[in-house]
Amino acid sequence: MKLIFISFLLFPCITYSQCNIQNSPNSSVRHLSTTNNSQLDNLIFGEKTELESLLMLKTKLNIAKGTNGLAYPSCSLNNCNGTIELGVDLLNLEYNRRGGKYFIVGILAHEFAHIIQFKNNMIFESTVQQEIHADIFAGWYLGYYFDQLIGNSPKRFLPASDLMSSIKNFKNNLKISFGQIGDTQYYSVNHHGNYTTRLMALHHGIDSYDRGFTNWREVFFRWGKNDATHLINKWNH
Ligand SMILES: [Zn+2]
Repeated sequence: MKLIFISFLLFPCITYSQCNIQNSPNSSVRHLSTTNNSQLDNLIFGEKTELESLLMLKTKLNIAKGTNGLAYPSCSLNNCNGTIELGVDLLNLEYNRRGGKYFIVGILAHEFAHIIQFKNNMIFESTVQQEIHADIFAGWYLGYYFDQLIGNSPKRFLPASDLMSSIKNFKNNLKISFGQIGDTQYYSVNHHGNYTTRLMALHHGIDSYDRGFTNWREVFFRWGKNDATHLINKWNH
């Protein structure tokens, strides 16, 4: 375990960079229509459809160069609530890593959380509150996703016998996936939350679903902001 974690520290350049929220797309970023991996495309665009159906919204999803995730409220499609951009290098790297497919689903759900925030004109005290709020939803969605995966064999990319252990392993190693995208730039307007806060936000989201809070609206709108503030006050320092 220690060795695996150290390896992440040695190669930070190939991990998820950061989620950016912008008003409009960066026109200099080249958009790709595919990751060049049909199974990876199926995972991303399949889960995009699932999220859109569950959340009753429509998004445009761009695959872009690099390792960033990005969400913005504008969209070039009709009746569309916003645009999400995912870095192809991030996606390809994670797809081949143990537990990486779940991490990709979590990142996608995190970006979708921003689209819901935009759609509902939600106001946050700070970037970190907005990001931790999105992380809680990403955790909740992973709980929902695991439930679907266990009950829906056509969606599985692993035999049933391996599925439970892979989910358990992912949950036990959230610090390697989501913890490591935390930052300590406490005084930056772009601060997204430190290692522990982001880790605890994901745990809290998954745990909310597992404890029976299966309505995403309750987790998102009723408790989300207060829970984010509570986690920030407790861990983000
Ligand atoms: Zn974000």
